[in-house]
Amino acid sequence: MASRSKSRNAPAGASPFAVEAARLPEEKFSDPDWTAKGEPRASVPLVQLDTLWLNTGTLCNLACASCYIESSPTNDALVYLSHAHAAPFLDEAGAIGTPEIGFTGGEPFMNPDFVPMLADTLERGFEALILSNAMKPMRRHEAALLDMRERFGDRLTIRVSLDHHTKAVHEAERGPRSWEVAIDGLQWLSRNGFSLAVAGRMLPDESEADERAGYARLFAEHDIAVDAGDPMRLVLFPEMDEDKDIAEITTACWQILGQDPKDIMCATSRMVVHRKGEPEPRVTACTLIPYDPGFDMGATLDEASRPVKLNHPHCARFCVLGGASCSA
Ligand code: SF4
Ligand code: SF4
Repeated sequence: MASRSKSRNAPAGASPFAVEAARLPEEKFSDPDWTAKGEPRASVPLVQLDTLWLNTGTLCNLACASCYIESSPTNDALVYLSHAHAAPFLDEAGAIGTPEIGFTGGEPFMNPDFVPMLADTLERGFEALILSNAMKPMRRHEAALLDMRERFGDRLTIRVSLDHHTKAVHEAERGPRSWEVAIDGLQWLSRNGFSLAVAGRMLPDESEADERAGYARLFAEHDIAVDAGDPMRLVLFPEMDEDKDIAEITTACWQILGQDPKDIMCATSRMVVHRKGEPEPRVTACTLIPYDPGFDMGATLDEASRPVKLNHPHCARFCVLGGASCSA
């Protein structure tokens, strides 16, 4: 994989969102069916495919300190997904009634096929959700975006990553000169009436109420029409670090935590990735684990409809525990 630290726009220091925990013991998350303690590992059945994510490729104009997919201006571990390769997955998703196609990267607007692929998605009647940093790559496509907003209205939503409501924390994660450009991109989207959302992250010592209040002040100050109190419009994510210790999820955890496997992301979504060196795209269990062969679900959506075994630290920290603890 290409070195990310060589990117000239990479942040200089450690991520402000770093997880503080001991190193993950090697014996954990090593067997798909059993935990290190010998308990049956939990799995999540696919209930229905509500969102099919298309990963447009890992190349990005930024190299954020803790980007979970390790994107950067030089990392093409996931190559650009072509429109021709995406089309059969759109056919399959259409046939099973999937309502939403999500686009994530990297930065989707860097993929040369992205705009035609997005137009095709909307023309087929899907809703489209784009995750973008709203910086220069997006701004190069203003005319196409305005046209699509005219034609498809709120069926097109753009979710902009703004890691924190302060410039200092955002730039510590995303690199110097990343704040004003992102705010400007958000203002452009807001001014032009796009269906808009923001993705932020939780600092270890900041409560959700404080985060939302901070974003509300920021949005009011900059005339950005996003309701910081609406969890669908300001999405706040817990942290992930696959090298840090976390409890494994057993079949008993659902009851102990009062969680329903149907509410976990991989019960309702899958992601298409095209890994460098492979002839065709593949389907992964979710957006969070694109490289682990244990989470490669197959070549088609049909093949990928079997249950997912929660054999990865992200399953525990990000999806099931999310800050809670499971004593099993
Ligand atoms: S903008 Fe997103 S995809 Fe790009 S490096 Fe940052 S977190 Fe990763
Ligand atoms: S991280 Fe694990 S539990 Fe979460 S959506 Fe992905 S596969 Fe499912």
